[in-house]
Amino acid sequence: MHCPFCRHADSRVIDSRTSDDGLSIRRRRQCPQCGGRFSTIETASLNVIKRSGVIEPFSREKVMSGARKACQGRPVTEADLAVLAQAVEEAVRQTGSSQIDTNEIGLAILGPLRELDEVAYLRFASVYQAFDSLEDFEASIAQLRADHRAGHRVDAD
Ligand SMILES: [Zn+2]
Repeated sequence: MHCPFCRHADSRVIDSRTSDDGLSIRRRRQCPQCGGRFSTIETASLNVIKRSGVIEPFSREKVMSGARKACQGRPVTEADLAVLAQAVEEAVRQTGSSQIDTNEIGLAILGPLRELDEVAYLRFASVYQAFDSLEDFEASIAQLRADHRAGHRVDAD
C-alpha cells in the first residue's frame, strides 16, 4: 500500500486492532520515508451477485435500505436496522463463501426481520419469495400463528 502523503511504496504496521464485531482489522501504519501515519481497514472480501449478473461488494447499507422499505410505518428504529444488517452480514459470512447472490441475502434477512417486526417480515417475504396469491400470505400467517402458539404453550404455566 502506497503512502498517501509521499507515495512511497512501502509502509510499516505499528498497531493492529480487531473491530468489536470481529469482521474487520484496523491497522495503523507508518511510512518509513516521510514518517506519515495512516490507517487501513482490512475485511474479508464478500461480493454479491445481482440478478443482472453484476458483481458488487456486500453492503450493510443496502441490507438496511431493503429492510427499511418493509418497515415503513412500523415501530422499527435505525438502530434496529443496523443490528439486523450486522446479523445478516455475520450469517452470510458464516457460509464461508466469498460470493453470494441477492436471493441468499434476502433469505438471510427474513429470520432477523421476523424477530423485529412480523408485519415488516410479511411485506418483505411477499416481495422476496414472490408471493403471487392470497394463499401465499395465508400460509405465511398460518406459520407465524403456529409458532406463536408453540411459544405461548412454553410460557403458559
Ligand atoms: Zn510517506
